[in-house]
Order: sequence, then C-alpha cells, then structure tokens
Amino acid sequence: MSNGTIKIDGARFLLTLDPERRIIQDASILIEGQRITRVGKASELRGVEADRVIDATDMVVTPGLINAHLHISYASATSGMFPDSMDPGDYLADTFRMSLAMTEEEEYYTSLLGITEVLKYGTTCFLDPGTTRFLDACMKAYEESGCRIVLGTHVMDRPGASDFTVNTPAEARALTEEVIKKYDGALDGRVRAWAMALDVDHSSRELLTTIKEVADSHNTGLTLHCVNGPDSVQYHLEQFGKRPIEYLDQIGVLGPNVLLAHVIGLNDAEVDCVARTDTKLVMCPPAATKMGAGTTIHGKLPEMLDKGICVGLGNDSGNHGSVDTLRSVYLAAILYKDGRQNVAAVPAEAALEMATIQGARALGLDADIGSIEVGKKADLALFDTRRPEWRTLFNPVNSLVYNADGRSVDTVIVDGKVVIENHQPVFVNEWELIQRVRGIGEDLASRVGISHPPSWPIV
Ligand SMILES: [Zn+2]
Repeated sequence: MSNGTIKIDGARFLLTLDPERRIIQDASILIEGQRITRVGKASELRGVEADRVIDATDMVVTPGLINAHLHISYASATSGMFPDSMDPGDYLADTFRMSLAMTEEEEYYTSLLGITEVLKYGTTCFLDPGTTRFLDACMKAYEESGCRIVLGTHVMDRPGASDFTVNTPAEARALTEEVIKKYDGALDGRVRAWAMALDVDHSSRELLTTIKEVADSHNTGLTLHCVNGPDSVQYHLEQFGKRPIEYLDQIGVLGPNVLLAHVIGLNDAEVDCVARTDTKLVMCPPAATKMGAGTTIHGKLPEMLDKGICVGLGNDSGNHGSVDTLRSVYLAAILYKDGRQNVAAVPAEAALEMATIQGARALGLDADIGSIEVGKKADLALFDTRRPEWRTLFNPVNSLVYNADGRSVDTVIVDGKVVIENHQPVFVNEWELIQRVRGIGEDLASRVGISHPPSWPIV
C-alpha cells in the first residue's frame, strides 16, 4: 500500500550518515511510499511536488535513531521507583518480579507508552531483548505506533535468574522457531524476529548452539546479555577454562549475526575474538553507569571502535533513566574522554554513528536504515532548532550530541509515515495513555507488594 509522497523541504542541515558522512545544508528529501527517492540541495528538488510538503527551514534532519537494546514493555509503569543505592541484584529481582506480574493488557499499554516516548525523541527502531511476554498483544502497539522493532522471546535453561521460564534446548528451539515464523517480516517488514537467550550465564552450551543454529538457518540474528562481570568471568574460567566471550567463540556462538549486549568487562583477547568473528556489540551507558558497573574502568569502547568493531547503543530500560537514545549518545561521547583523560576518545561523530548507521549494522538492517540515502527506508527525525539549546548552530553534530536531546524532535517519520508531528504522537492520545499507565504502575506495585518510598519525607 502506498504511503503517498512526502517532501521535506529546505532543511537547515541534513546529517546523511552516508558513506562520505555528508552534511547537506539547505537540503530536501523526497519520500515515495516507504522509501527515500531523492536527497539533495533544496534547489535541486525545486519544482518537485509531493502529496505533503514539510517545511524544514529551521530543522536538523537525521536518520531515525536506533536503540539496539531496550526492554520496552514494563518500565514505563515502574521507572523512578527504585532507590539508586539499591543492590543491583535486588533491584533487578524487583523489576523482573513486577514485569512478570503484568497482565496482557498492562503489557500492551506500558509498551505503547514506552514506544511513544522513544518515537517522540527521534528513535524509530529498537531491539526489545526478549522480555516482552505477550507478543500478540504488543504487536498491536507496534502496529498502531508505526515503530520499527526487532523482537523475540528470550530462552534460558539454567534456573536462578528471577522467575523466568526455564526451557530445555528442544523447547527453546521450538519456541524460537515459532516466534521467528510468526513475526519475522510482519507489518510491511517493520518487524524482525530474532533468536534471543537471556544471557551467557543461564544458558547451557547446547541451548546456545541450538538457538544460534536456528538464527543461522532462518537468516536472522541472535542476541544475548553478556555483561562479563567478575562473577561471570570467574564462573566461566572455573567451568570451561575460558572467559565468557572466548567460550562463546569456542562453541561457535559468535558471528556477524550475533549481538552481545552490555559487554563491559572484556579483556584484549575477548575484544580480538569479537573483531575476528565480526560479532556485533551493543553498550548501554545509562544502565552501566547507574548500576555502578565501572564502564570507563573496565569498558573498552575506544579500543573496540579502533579495531573497527560494530558497536551500537542501547538504554536497556526506563528503570535506569530516560529512554532517549541521545542520552546514550551523549554518555558514549563523554565517558571515555574523562575515563582516559583524552579528549580524542570516542568523538561526537562516532557516538552518533553508534545510534544510526552502526546501530543499523548491529541489527543487520543497514541495507535499509541508518542513513539518509536514495533507496533506503524513510526513517527520519526532524529536530526543531528554534530552541535555546540549538544556538548557535556552527556544527550540527556537536549541538546534537552535547547540547540537544530528544525533546527538540518535532517530526518523526518511520517507513514513510509521519508518526510524530509537532512533538505529538499521531497514533494515540498521549495524556490518556499516561494516566492509564500511572494507574497500572500503582496497581502493580501494590499487587506485587513492592514499595520504595523516597528518602526524603513526603509531607
Ligand atoms: Zn537488557
């Protein structure tokens, strides 16, 4: 079905993220149906007509941002609840208890609000790492909102991680195949379904190799959490004589279609394993820093980028703070400058690539998204620069990464359709949705019996 034609006219700056990384001043874009059919100077597209023309005179246009690790389905109801001093293990146990207690309807509404937030802030595509339980109900939210999503159902076969279901490898294969067959390519191709394991610590060798095989045979991806914290490293050394990523390499569970999440405590040999196998990585700076993971002490983002490793960015969950992908971009750009006392570490441009073209590569979607080029899908964010944080606009990359955030996004287009217009979602009454999710959060907390009053007295 045709989406009609849209012309984005006369953008102040267009960050193409194309192979030359051109920034086009006074730029126009023509969208026909799902795809971009022309990109150039406004003067070159003068006289080109469209069903709809968007005046972008004061806009900076970027590719839609890509969040490669974002648990979307519950945190809208619980974010802000947990004390920052809570033990990370207890904190995760509480969040999982609450997410597992959600009804189908609650998961739909919390997903829809999470998606509304990320779309409003310019993120058009995200990977939900397998914690959404009611995919059929949540498909409605993906369909209504118009987002692009990589989804799946995580599997594990070693108990001990909260109350998550434990599957045998055979069950994991059947479940993963079912999810891929049912959802991969749905909603005009906006949905990709992947194989997903919870993490390396709760998965046997047989489970991991089984679902890797499923991913390979269905020509799709595999993601799993791989923090590589001290406990995980010690466990793998004791059990297998290898560190976690060397172990994954040994059993054949690395490769170009594998995306490892968090990846904080890698040593040089593990970084080499990742580089050699073209395994993709996603780091989540908001989660890592708030959980005190020592991301600049142990993290090797500068070395990974130097080796040409594809690293995307995620926010992990709204429980760690804003789900605005630009918060991750900002943290990626500043953390290692400070940690390494080197202002050349992770330039703004590299950080922005992580949330656009490299994020698209991490998700295996770079043929279609991640840059603004003729032939690609029309996933775009238009930032309104008529705001104080955008002055003075000498360098749109610097202003975007260091000064702006997602709140200046005016218009968002996914797959050639406008989903955010004048800062507002076109697919839902946002305030009604917010009120509904507030009720879900309060109800859920009392049902599960979790309460964390603020440290300061509420009088
Ligand atoms: Zn996660």
